[in-house]
Amino acid sequence: MSATAETTPRHDWTLAEVRALFEQPFNDLLFQAQSVHRQHFDPNRVQVSTLLSIKTGACPEDCKYCPQSGHYNTGLDKEKLMEVQKVLEAAAEAKAIGSTRFCMGAAWKHPSAKDMPYVLEMVKGVKKLGLETCMTLGRLDQEQTQALAEAGLDYYNHNLDTSPEFYGNIITTRTYGERLQTLAYVREAGMKICSGGILGMGESLDDRAGLLIQLANLPEHPESVPINMLVKVKGTPLAEEKDVDPFDFIRTLAVARIMMPKSHVRLSAGREQMNEQMQALAFMAGANSIFYGEKLLTTANPQADKDMALFKRLGIKPEEREEHADEVHQAAIEQALVEQRDSRLFYNAASA
Ligand code: SF4
Repeated sequence: MSATAETTPRHDWTLAEVRALFEQPFNDLLFQAQSVHRQHFDPNRVQVSTLLSIKTGACPEDCKYCPQSGHYNTGLDKEKLMEVQKVLEAAAEAKAIGSTRFCMGAAWKHPSAKDMPYVLEMVKGVKKLGLETCMTLGRLDQEQTQALAEAGLDYYNHNLDTSPEFYGNIITTRTYGERLQTLAYVREAGMKICSGGILGMGESLDDRAGLLIQLANLPEHPESVPINMLVKVKGTPLAEEKDVDPFDFIRTLAVARIMMPKSHVRLSAGREQMNEQMQALAFMAGANSIFYGEKLLTTANPQADKDMALFKRLGIKPEEREEHADEVHQAAIEQALVEQRDSRLFYNAASA
């Protein structure tokens, strides 16, 4: 396949086409992905988000990969919804070390009426700090989605996790259709979508293709597509799953880049298990977003200064928010990083 093919966003991908992308020789696939990437993005910029767990553990859902599910005993301490002020302090720290987006995650089936006012205050407060806002709170109804949009929420994260065919092996307490419905509400309310999946749960190559087809064939591509590598946590049903072949992981990033050429493809959970060479290959494949900070919800994330050191060695710079592009300077960010190296950004149950 030619390196310049398929750079216009499409929404009619077939399994045969996606299989053909996956089956290309590795170098051809990476060349194609990098060529597509360069048509839509600066290849030496990576968007940097910080993720904070605002409510940890005791989730009623049974996602088999998740240490926060109340169905499994993973030794994780539970925490109630954080106070708004503490969330805003963490957001200010994230901004000081160069994050442009602040993501807040709560382990809920869906937000309750009692918690919504606090959640809305968090959105408004983080927004005022000049950060983009993102939340992941589980299933939303239309009214809640509208309220979040009116409060200024930029992104809503709701992952599809895997293909519709494999989904029932991983989650039984929420349907695929409910996930798609939440995504539809988010779009209707005018917010941006962050949605992706997880590799390494025992899925087949067709399931990986099926996940990407679901995402790419939505009426609009998600603006952000996190591709996670399973973090195997003791006590969860997937603790003993086989490791994902690193090249298969990179291939999936590359195929996501080709299928959703204008989306930010995020190298997400599991980055701690990747060496620097694998992360560099991921950027070559078109990944252009990372989570950055001490912890990713409840699993370890490489130290912020290590990330910036790798960026420097690769000549990569953090992507700036467009409206602040002329205010933010790389040197200042790097200096702040050094100063913040030992500070804690995350207040999650695993370490609090
Ligand atoms: S992934 Fe989310 S919804 Fe599923 S158990 Fe974990 S916190 Fe709950």
